[in-house]
Amino acid sequence: MTKPYAAGGAYISRMSTYCKGCAYDPKLRTGERACPFTTLYWDFLDRHKETFVKNHRMSQQVFGLNKLKDVPELKLRAEQVLNGLSEGTI
Ligand code: SF4
Repeated sequence: MTKPYAAGGAYISRMSTYCKGCAYDPKLRTGERACPFTTLYWDFLDRHKETFVKNHRMSQQVFGLNKLKDVPELKLRAEQVLNGLSEGTI
């Protein structure tokens, strides 16, 4: 495998019909309506960006991450999502 097989909600939405009628918005990564997959995808990239930046197949994603202006809000939402998953509330 040359890159991680990970995706956010936008990809799931594009490749399926699961997102129709979902309470979450696959395009959002922050806020109460943010899709957990989208939030955790960007959080995953951020946590491993030092590794991914060395992989030419991931450099575009890391470049996109570095352009985000809402990383603090993203990290907060990721923590909420992970806690919610642990507690069974998400
Ligand atoms: S949680 Fe996200 S990926 Fe899953 S159905 Fe809802 S919007 Fe789509």
